[in-house]
Amino acid sequence: MPNHFIDLVRAHAPDAARTFLETPEGRVVSYGELDRRSAQYANALAARGVAPGDRVALQVEKSVEAVFAFLGTLRAGAVFLPLNTAYTAPEIDYFLGDAEATVFVCDPARLGELSAVASARKVPHVLTLDREGAGTLAQVADRAATDFRDAARGEDDLAALLYTSGTTGRSKGAMLTHGNLASNALALVESWRFTSDDVLIHALPIFHTHGLFVAINLTLLAGSSMIFLPRFDPDQVLPLMARATVMMGVPTFYARLLRQPNLSSAATAHMRLFISGSAPLLADTHREWEARTDHAILERYGMTETGMNTSNPYEGERIAGTVGFPLPGIRVRVVDPQSGAGLQSGEIGMIEVKGPNVFAGYWRMPEKTASELHDGWFVTGDLGLVDARGYVQIVGRGKDLVITGGYNVYPKEIESEIDALPGVVESAVIGLPHADFGEAVTAVVVAREGAGLDEKAVLAALNGRLARYKLPKRVLFLDDLPRNTMGKVQKNRLRETYGTLYRDLP
Ligand code: AMP
Repeated sequence: MPNHFIDLVRAHAPDAARTFLETPEGRVVSYGELDRRSAQYANALAARGVAPGDRVALQVEKSVEAVFAFLGTLRAGAVFLPLNTAYTAPEIDYFLGDAEATVFVCDPARLGELSAVASARKVPHVLTLDREGAGTLAQVADRAATDFRDAARGEDDLAALLYTSGTTGRSKGAMLTHGNLASNALALVESWRFTSDDVLIHALPIFHTHGLFVAINLTLLAGSSMIFLPRFDPDQVLPLMARATVMMGVPTFYARLLRQPNLSSAATAHMRLFISGSAPLLADTHREWEARTDHAILERYGMTETGMNTSNPYEGERIAGTVGFPLPGIRVRVVDPQSGAGLQSGEIGMIEVKGPNVFAGYWRMPEKTASELHDGWFVTGDLGLVDARGYVQIVGRGKDLVITGGYNVYPKEIESEIDALPGVVESAVIGLPHADFGEAVTAVVVAREGAGLDEKAVLAALNGRLARYKLPKRVLFLDDLPRNTMGKVQKNRLRETYGTLYRDLP
């Protein structure tokens, strides 16, 4: 039966003998095997009574079998719901209850704790899958038939429910349709010139849009292959570049690879493209990478709710500190956050996005959906601008904007000044409660070892470069900024840690 996303995968599949993925241990999965194994997972789910539209939740380590489960879920017509492996039992409790999952697959090591949660939430079936791809789900699948009649699913039917990594309030389930996944992967195949000759280094987690949809769906719709790694390890990744062609990474991958003494243009000569996203790439990292490898990293911008929105060009200048142009078929505009009026190029405002990539809304949150989606335009929550050449620049999350003494301060502007100082690795600027100013601009800086930087030196260097109201009231030092698994700096954690910094001031 017609199944929108799966039919596209079939239409782009190369010869059945071609490699879909290989692992460092030498396991090779061909496109033919992918078809048979995903059919077995679809059969395993259908045998548990999973019907089109049902939610299949998984909190499992990255494995090849988890990829089979992903495609098996779509073939069964169900909705794939991957969960971050870091989530605790109370968090899982919320997701299973909110999504009303029909099946929950967890790591066997956590079965005791999580099956209790699942049964309290009346989830009918709990199965297991470990990092080697073994568990009760795999056992059922291994015995199932290797062909499956795909469930009928149209463009607008749900394919996945991805909970946002929301740092405030309840995590929201973004409803993504078959059409969202398909259109975005096709736009990326075209923009990044993927072909069946490409070999992708896949070292990202697969519970997030980046490793799951950008990396896997792109591979599928280009009929290319990937080297599927359990996690990112720079020692393992660098030698693989001799036979791979593309790497997708979060900025920390690049920063860590730069610490490898063997990183060079010779070591990366076989690669054609390095892509970065999920968090801002430091301009220094971009420059150093190009100096060491002769490759300009291509930075792109996206999010759970929309997939990818913009990308630096494949041909043409890839500009550090920008996220490039809207992808084919996608529109981007910048509006005044208060009035909603369109802004001119160069003016900072709220970034909004419209296109076939934009999700169908938040799961069972009609009010939240209505406030963030109007006439197909999604209010991203990111502040930014479109420059005179049409490149989009992200200035920060709307909620990270600092309002001090009635003035708006965009953290990125201050961070860029601090990052440019000798001896600074990176910085994060936050607003902290202050009796006089409302919020006080505060900088948290990571300095290079032995740089001898202190608060006075940073403030002296900024003086005269920034308007007085933008100058940090305090500069604090840390060895590392707190980051989540996707490499995003967790400013909320910094705000919590230093929340009372100005409280006891006279
Ligand atoms: P998530 O939904 O977890 O993928 O997070 C999406 C958010 O990550 C976006 O709304 C941006 O704030 C941020 N983000 C993604 N890519 C970039 C990028 N290239 N530069 C800056 N921020 C980014």
